[in-house]
Amino acid sequence: MSNIAIIGAGLAGCEAAWQLVKRGIPVDLFEMRPASMTPTHKTGMFAELVCSNSLRAAALENAVGLLKEEMRQLESFIMKAADKCRLPAGGALAVDRDGFSSYITETLGNHPLIQVHCQELKTIPLNEYEVIIVATGPLTSPGLSEHIQALTGDQFYFYDAAAPVIAADSLDMNIIYRASRYDKGDDDYLNCPMDKPTYEIFWRELINADATPIKEFEKAIFFEGCMPIEVMAARGIDTMRFGPLKPVGLVNPQTTEIPYAVVQLRQDNAAATLYNMVGFQTHLKWPEQKRVFQLIPGLQNAEFVRLGVMHRNTYINSPLHLLPTLQMRNLARTFFAGQITGVEGYVESAATGLLAGMNAARLAAGKEPLIFPQSTAHGALVHYITHADVKNFQPMNINFGLMPPLEHKIKDKKKKNLAIATRALTDLTQFIEKCDNCIA
Ligand code: FAD
Repeated sequence: MSNIAIIGAGLAGCEAAWQLVKRGIPVDLFEMRPASMTPTHKTGMFAELVCSNSLRAAALENAVGLLKEEMRQLESFIMKAADKCRLPAGGALAVDRDGFSSYITETLGNHPLIQVHCQELKTIPLNEYEVIIVATGPLTSPGLSEHIQALTGDQFYFYDAAAPVIAADSLDMNIIYRASRYDKGDDDYLNCPMDKPTYEIFWRELINADATPIKEFEKAIFFEGCMPIEVMAARGIDTMRFGPLKPVGLVNPQTTEIPYAVVQLRQDNAAATLYNMVGFQTHLKWPEQKRVFQLIPGLQNAEFVRLGVMHRNTYINSPLHLLPTLQMRNLARTFFAGQITGVEGYVESAATGLLAGMNAARLAAGKEPLIFPQSTAHGALVHYITHADVKNFQPMNINFGLMPPLEHKIKDKKKKNLAIATRALTDLTQFIEKCDNCIA
């Protein structure tokens, strides 16, 4: 038995395990599948991709492309597997899903420093191990969920019903106007006005759009009164106009009239670089969300940094419970990694696994765990999940809006993103040089 346990051999847990064993530190890796399955996984393999086989955009002008490049610099095992199993997919990094999971399962399963236990843990084994990484993902088993909930108090989420988030600099402010209903609240909201014909086209496209089938265990989300916008729209052409698209009290200063319907956007981060769509939790497929929501006036060029999701998603209130090293604030020898920390996506989950593994190795060796610079994609993502609003913490994909702005303004979006990515990679290189050989 080693001194370090990792619970969950998903994207985060496998990356964390690799980061430890590559530094010569033995690991006990607990994975409950195939003995005990989640409602979504289909195999007993490690790092199963539960839905799409894409690790999203490859280019550096895209924040997830930058995150992947940083992971390569940090000698990520998941990126090595992904690059090895890459399929042709235009600008995206798609992988052969079976080849990807088989490579990871075999490499870790046969590693002399990894002891695999096919076992569901219902508690975090604090008495048996010095350092523990919890990486049990969005579908953490009910028994362990209960234990984590007791450990963290009542700040624990089981479902994610999140509306899309849009980059502020992609909004058309010639169309969108600031106003709060009846002038309450200092013009906090951005308003996308619709006339009758535009609303009717939007409604028709919305009710006919392609949605992801809802699984039985996901239906509980709706009982909590959190109805997908397309389900609401299907109840009648005017239902949305009496709900989240109600125009009452929102005079458009350009026309001095109240529009037929209004889609409201609410500020999503302190830097005001991100806005979420009020009331737009949705089960539509991601390409359909882009197509239909870009019909809304002012959103025709919207860059969706996170699309709407409605699925079982177990995650802790990280801003309350985690340090930027991914250690628990009140239990420093316990790390959390992956989707359970409130990051969203395969790559983001693996990236936090990488940081947790690296920091667990440092802790075990008596060294200070590391906090990455916020100008890097890793640093920005972890900064977000550990500093977001504790009262309304929602999972987040990596996006450039989480990173500090450039000192000089660059108008062209692609060039601006590339400049932020170049700065990130330079800062990461310097950080690695200074951090006492931390990637070795
Ligand atoms: P996982 O990869 O789920 O790994 C967690 C592991 O822990 C699992 O193997 C599980 O069996 C194991 N485990 C759970 N409880 C216990 C326990 N008590 N004891 C031992 N083992 C346990 N992201 C994308 O980028 N693209 C997508 O298309 C996408 N689709 C998704 C679809 C669904 C339905 C869901 C729920 C999520 C989706 N995600 C997607 C989000 C997320 O990126 C993935 O869920 C990702 O796999 C998360 O990585 P992880 O390592 O945190 O968790």
